[in-house]
Amino acid sequence: MGRVYNFNPGPSTLPLSALEKAQAEFTDYKGTGLSVLEMSHRSKEFEAILADTQNLLRELIGIPENYKILFLGGGASLQFAMLAMNFIPQGGSADYVVTGEWAKRAFKEANIVAKGRAAASSEDKNFSYLPQPASWDLAPDAAYVHITSNNTIFGTQYRTFPDLKGKFLVCDMSSDILSRRFDINRFAMIYAGAQKNLGPAGVTVVILRDDLAATAREGLPTMLSYATHIKNNSLYNTPPCFSIYIMQLTLQWAKEIGGLTAIEKVNRDKAELLYSAIDGSDGFYRGTVAPDSRSWMNVPIRLATEELEAAFIAEAKNQGMIGLKGHRSVGGLRVSMYNAMPLAGIEKLVKFMKQFKASH
Ligand code: PMP
Repeated sequence: MGRVYNFNPGPSTLPLSALEKAQAEFTDYKGTGLSVLEMSHRSKEFEAILADTQNLLRELIGIPENYKILFLGGGASLQFAMLAMNFIPQGGSADYVVTGEWAKRAFKEANIVAKGRAAASSEDKNFSYLPQPASWDLAPDAAYVHITSNNTIFGTQYRTFPDLKGKFLVCDMSSDILSRRFDINRFAMIYAGAQKNLGPAGVTVVILRDDLAATAREGLPTMLSYATHIKNNSLYNTPPCFSIYIMQLTLQWAKEIGGLTAIEKVNRDKAELLYSAIDGSDGFYRGTVAPDSRSWMNVPIRLATEELEAAFIAEAKNQGMIGLKGHRSVGGLRVSMYNAMPLAGIEKLVKFMKQFKASH
């Protein structure tokens, strides 16, 4: 079987060139006689992989020198707790914009280890819209303000980010990092599990500005302290070496195809194509999200009945398009189209959507 179009929400499709490069180097990495899987994380070869991966991220996103780039284990989910442990001072609190399941989990973890305040929430309408920054009820002394740039399950995405003037803005960018240009200077910290736009599961990227890092609490368990990982350049313990290596290859691909400007264009084109197919279907396909909050990465779609939705998913699979089942909290279909999904994948899907509508 040839490769399918993989619309899974994560882990998700990776650039074929990155997979092929890894395959070519799999048993003998650059004449070392061993695989990256077998290599010491203290070897000069691995240190070069780590440095190049950091440099590529810095270059692609335009990350200034006053931010550290860390590669950690534990998924984005560990960041939910680690962030609050490090940066909410004793007796203090942080503000959370609660826009979906992952934002809710971040908020929940903050309340386990410290105190989180909900500054805004869209749960009243099943997270189908985004509360805009003007409506956020921010506490004057919040340790930071936490947002989720793209809500993977509900399919909403902030198009722009506010300038919070001196407040620390922290963002879970797991499902849309590297998908478009943005001003990094708005953020004091960004974190992202790699398994959508950056590479495979197993590594989480943390981009942390020095001024926020300086506020970290002391006395935390060693592995849960950002200071440990900053001081040791993500090599305090054994990092997820192979995941970092595949991320390096994924970032090389991102650079080769033209960086964020080119990637943003393709992502916009894919989104326009899919949303116009939904909007032009006379209600056969129904978006679940307020039009001004629509995501370019994840698109939930409902059909008239669950039977029709199941038939769509099964027939699409027969045609080599997989991973289209929606999350149970929204139901229906969800099209996840991260960077490595080519425009041709969405063209094929849209063509199929038209055929399916005609035959049902
Ligand atoms: N945040 C967002 C926006 C996500 O989409 C996900 C995973 N789908 C997570 C956090 C959790 O990531 P992980 O599985 O790496 O802990």
